Amino acid sequence: MIQTFSNALQRILPSATRLVQKVTRQHYTETQADYLSAKTRILILGAGFGGLTTALSLDRLLESAQDVSVLVVDRNNYSFFHPLLWTVASGRTSPSSIVVPIRTFQRGRSFHLLHAEIQRIDLAEKTVYTSAGPRPYDYLVLGIGSVTAFPNLPGLKEHALPFHSPAHAMELRNHLIDAVENAHQSQDQAERKAWLTFVVGGGGDTGVELAATIYDYLVDGLYKRYPWLNDSKTRIVLIGRAERLMPMSTPGTSQKVEQVLKEQGIEVQTGVAVEAVTENSVKTSQGEIPMHTFFWAAGISAPSIVRDLDVKQAGNGAIIVNDHLQIPGHEEVFVLGDTAWAYDAATKMAIPPTAQAAEHQGAYTAEVLAGLLKGKTSGPFVFNPRGHLALLGRRTGVAQVGSFVFTGIAAWALWHAYYLLHIPSWRSRLLLLVNWGLAAIAGPETSQLRLE
Ligand SMILES: Cc1cc2nc3c(=O)[nH]c(=O)nc-3n(C[C@H](O)[C@H](O)[C@H](O)COP(=O)(O)OP(=O)(O)OC[C@H]3O[C@@H](n4cnc5c(N)ncnc54)[C@H](O)[C@@H]3O)c2cc1C
Repeated sequence: MIQTFSNALQRILPSATRLVQKVTRQHYTETQADYLSAKTRILILGAGFGGLTTALSLDRLLESAQDVSVLVVDRNNYSFFHPLLWTVASGRTSPSSIVVPIRTFQRGRSFHLLHAEIQRIDLAEKTVYTSAGPRPYDYLVLGIGSVTAFPNLPGLKEHALPFHSPAHAMELRNHLIDAVENAHQSQDQAERKAWLTFVVGGGGDTGVELAATIYDYLVDGLYKRYPWLNDSKTRIVLIGRAERLMPMSTPGTSQKVEQVLKEQGIEVQTGVAVEAVTENSVKTSQGEIPMHTFFWAAGISAPSIVRDLDVKQAGNGAIIVNDHLQIPGHEEVFVLGDTAWAYDAATKMAIPPTAQAAEHQGAYTAEVLAGLLKGKTSGPFVFNPRGHLALLGRRTGVAQVGSFVFTGIAAWALWHAYYLLHIPSWRSRLLLLVNWGLAAIAGPETSQLRLE
């Protein structure tokens, strides 16, 4: 008995000591010379879901390797948690609750951070040019995400509102408040109707959640401040070009999602193409909708510095990688997240551009790199999705766990619990809990904060 206890203690003690060292150890240095003089320089572009996961996993896997230096470059000093953007747009969270300063992740870790704009990548020279000067690399991890794709449709760029950042979420709130105020002031019935019509282009996850968020913010928030508008007919229209909503999920999920949206009064138009947008209407393949608010959420595209590279790219500019996430012909470069066009080695299906996939790819890339430095080869990338969650408006959502799909408050609660646990900061978790609790008691935030 004593012997067993002593053996267990001997096993636990080293890991406990390592943990204490890690928690108490400060990040020790941050010099350019340190990075440049290392035998192996790993440069990670982007500290989003993919890039940051790579850096954190590498730090764990390369703990004893003194001759490797890892440098992460990002234009922002924070890592931003996109999925929680919906709760900012619906007035239930402040934008600062869903971002985590990147430097907090350096505590007890040895990777370096460069807060700079990435300007150009030279694959032949193995150098990345940034606003803080050039940085050479031996291995490059490219994970700089994506931007909203605006196809060349008349008036689209001028009149459509994108939804990709905390500023866009605040803008959505501001815009809905303006629209409702304008409707309130308008004496003309047709004009009032146009102000209370909100159209979303894009039937994928982002479009669906956007339409549901608009519904949530209007019905649960704004209309309580303007009760006299309750009898004015609000129209929320979701337009998708594919034959079903959320085409990357199963047909059963699409059907349930459409049913929930329709029950809330959201008009769903699938198999319909947006053709042109003006200040006063959107023209579709099925006719014209008078409106003053149009959101565009139909697809993403690679940032221009990725599109500028002379490598094989998919239609949206994402780099086509091999089954180890490397650029063919440049095997020292790994691409992940939204910037990559990758296929699952097991199913041969395209990997979806999600945070979940970017994190899996980040962990995988770190393992491949750590293996390479030890002279080992790794198997191809296989994506094991944990499931699929989406918010569908007022205390409802959809959850797909394995082959089981459910909607309603259980899916809504699971969404909140999952993302609350997943955001990598206790401070953010506490802020979110307080914010959500307050919104549940006192209603969402309806004051307008101009950001310009
Ligand atoms: C509104 C919205 C909701 C979403 N909801 C979900 C969801 O519920 N579940 C899910 O799985 N996915 C969701 N996604 C998708 C998910 O956010 C992306 O797939 C994921 O962020 C991709 O990760 P990434 O690492 O490729 O890029 P990102 O996480 O976007 O990180 C890219 C990083 O690169 C930096 N960067 C970019 N360009 C430069 C430059 N030139 N110089 C310096 N730094 C640069 C950026 O600052 C950023 O930190 C959502 C996306 C949006 C827009």
